[in-house]
Amino acid sequence: MDSITSSSYAVHFNAVAYSMLNEHLENANYSKVFILVDENTHEYCLPKFMSNISVACEFEIIEIEAGEIHKNIETCSQVWEVLSELDADRKSLMINLGGGVITDLGGFVASTFKRGIDFINVPTTLLSMVDASVGGKTGVDLGPLKNQVGVINQPIMVLVVSNFLETLEERQLQSGFAEMLKHGLLKSMEYWEQLKNVTSYTDLDALIYESVVMKNEVVLQDPTEQSLRKILNYGHTLGHAIESYFLESDEHELLLHGEAIAIGMILEAFLSYKLTNLSEKELVDIKKEFSSRYKKVDFSSEDIKSILELLKFDKKNSHGNINFVLLTAIGETAIDVQVPHELFKESFEYYQE
Ligand code: NAD
Ligand code: ZN
Repeated sequence: MDSITSSSYAVHFNAVAYSMLNEHLENANYSKVFILVDENTHEYCLPKFMSNISVACEFEIIEIEAGEIHKNIETCSQVWEVLSELDADRKSLMINLGGGVITDLGGFVASTFKRGIDFINVPTTLLSMVDASVGGKTGVDLGPLKNQVGVINQPIMVLVVSNFLETLEERQLQSGFAEMLKHGLLKSMEYWEQLKNVTSYTDLDALIYESVVMKNEVVLQDPTEQSLRKILNYGHTLGHAIESYFLESDEHELLLHGEAIAIGMILEAFLSYKLTNLSEKELVDIKKEFSSRYKKVDFSSEDIKSILELLKFDKKNSHGNINFVLLTAIGETAIDVQVPHELFKESFEYYQE
């Protein structure tokens, strides 16, 4: 459990992470090292991070406001400007120290500043460790629409250091756990069963490692999402629409990414039961698992209508058809399944039951 190789870079775990980083900083001779944080990772993660750096580099800290609503092009502009004011050049490095908002936005800013500078991701939430750590997706939201602007570009390295999770709120840990459950549903019944036994979100090192390995296997086989990689969108087609809707809505409390896709995974399990032969027993197992971990949301018929409207803008939408990744069983998937419109409402009814 030390390191794994993704396309062009390595993911280093826990014990070896900082020594690999220090060695890289020693050898790469960067003109300046910028560390992107939000106010929380500034307070909770930066001191831990800096105490493990043993190389004398010139560091500059750039702080942005925390939260998905700041994952937009305006924030990118602010960071580009700060980089420019602080004389960042092509030999500068950006270290993105934070959750998925920081690694997505920071990865995009670094990939586009002066046509691309090196960046290293240090995910500090469970979600960003297990999901945003491999695959090279960077980008920002456009209004309420998720990840509409971005590029696929790989970092120089990724460090997965689980002790950052000590300061993460329980609700955030639970949200990240949804992505791990997703990996089980997609690839491994055995992993799914192991996750079902998790009662406290501590000591997750081995399971985090498994998840990163599983996602990595998928993205390595299909880096540009032509076929297999689409499976990672399970639960996200409806989940993203729900997340976007809650981001805009004044009536509902904001949903975290993992919470939204947990609902998406129940809805899409129902579609799988209807369309791709997922057994009723497995459907019930999936609903039970997510319902026991994530709070139930009450959707009015108006809510559902607006959410289905948002589906149209989904990235997975090609030639006007909305393609779904569905399960044929726990651990097995079918891609590019078209869903008749009337089943969407039924799936929400099943969720509300
Ligand atoms: P986030 O970055 O907003 O982090 C959640 C909250 O936790 C923030 O308030 C943050 O400040 C705080 N925080 C982060 N680390 C902390 C720590 N160690 N201790 C205390 N507080 C801490 O959200 P997230 O859930 O990490 O990521 C969600 C984003 O990731 C979404 O925008 C999603 O689209 C994106 N994402 C990207 C990929 C990808 O492949 N690129 C994959 C999955 C998700
Ligand atoms: Zn996700």
